[in-house]
Amino acid sequence: MDKTIGIFGGGQLGRMMAQAALPLNIQCVFYEANTDCPSAALGPIFSSKDNCLKSFIQSADVFSLEFENTPLNEVDTLLADEKNIHPPRTALAIAQNRLSEKNLFKRLDIPVAPFLAVDNLEDIHSAVDKLGLPIVLKTAMGGYDGKGQFVLRSEDQILQAWDELGDAKHLIAESFVEFSREVSIIAVRGQDGDVKTWPLAENHHHQGILSHSIVPAPNSDDLQPIAQEYITRLLNHLDYVGVLTLELFVTPQGLYANEMAPRVHNSGHWSIEGAICSQFENHIRAVAGLPLGSTAFISPTVMINIIGKHPNIADVLSLEGVHLHLYNKSERAGRKLGHITLMPKDPTQLTTLCQKLAKILPEPLALTEDMTI
Ligand code: AMP
Repeated sequence: MDKTIGIFGGGQLGRMMAQAALPLNIQCVFYEANTDCPSAALGPIFSSKDNCLKSFIQSADVFSLEFENTPLNEVDTLLADEKNIHPPRTALAIAQNRLSEKNLFKRLDIPVAPFLAVDNLEDIHSAVDKLGLPIVLKTAMGGYDGKGQFVLRSEDQILQAWDELGDAKHLIAESFVEFSREVSIIAVRGQDGDVKTWPLAENHHHQGILSHSIVPAPNSDDLQPIAQEYITRLLNHLDYVGVLTLELFVTPQGLYANEMAPRVHNSGHWSIEGAICSQFENHIRAVAGLPLGSTAFISPTVMINIIGKHPNIADVLSLEGVHLHLYNKSERAGRKLGHITLMPKDPTQLTTLCQKLAKILPEPLALTEDMTI
């Protein structure tokens, strides 16, 4: 192997990064609590439970992450050893705090819903006065997949909201955005400053978890250059290296940024088959200091998550134009176990294929009755 990349986290994102790294003669090693994790089949796991941080740091040439809540003190230990991590620590620190994230968007003229910091009950009352109702209250740190959130629709709910979220101490109150759809833009920046962007994904959720993504997002020709401009601003400002994701709301007033993820993203899994160079390969290329590949899409795709329960594998594979990716995880409600990318030879068959697959999957897909892609 020519190079070893150390990755914080050993979930499916690490697994798919390592799968993309192998053909480039790049080995991945992982720092992760669970030694039986999805990445374990692809490289050694250094257990974070057994205090293996030092040996993990010694085992690799350069570092990255697949877990955005990677503790900053662990990154600091690595930096003190004069090792490099991509993306940069600053990007990670900002992405771990919704308030810093929103402040950065504002500073870079990327539109966001009006927001305020909330540190006590009194602040919620004043946020209601200033922003009006409804507002979305979120914990500043640690929330994911819609957890650590409360939609406040009436003043009667203020006490309940504080009861549920107040332990987190630092919250953010945002105006409720009346969006028509949710999209995400994924981009990669190389060590030489080269930036490449994949097409926008339109994302659909079920019970707060990503159910499926349609790529390119339908009717998004006018949105693509704007989203591209926003994410490029972020990448350049942060002197970022690697893949960055920006989640956005589509509103009548234009795009509003919701949050960024300093890593490869579920809404980019389609790119393994659907793009010339996937988010995983380009991330590895960037971290290794190699030239980036083209992010152009080959054909329209739908990426569907397998959540909670496995489908019958033979039933899925009997459909023409499907690519199945399983993560070697055990079944549990709400858990992402794998994904399926639909890429029929004839793209006009995408909707039909999607509906056929929806009948096979044990968990309901957030498909609308009149869905056309
Ligand atoms: P987040 O954890 O910020 O990604 O939020 C999870 C989901 O909550 C998003 O995908 C949206 O569907 C919804 N959401 C978050 N923030 C807002 C907001 N300010 N207005 C309306 N919906 C929101």
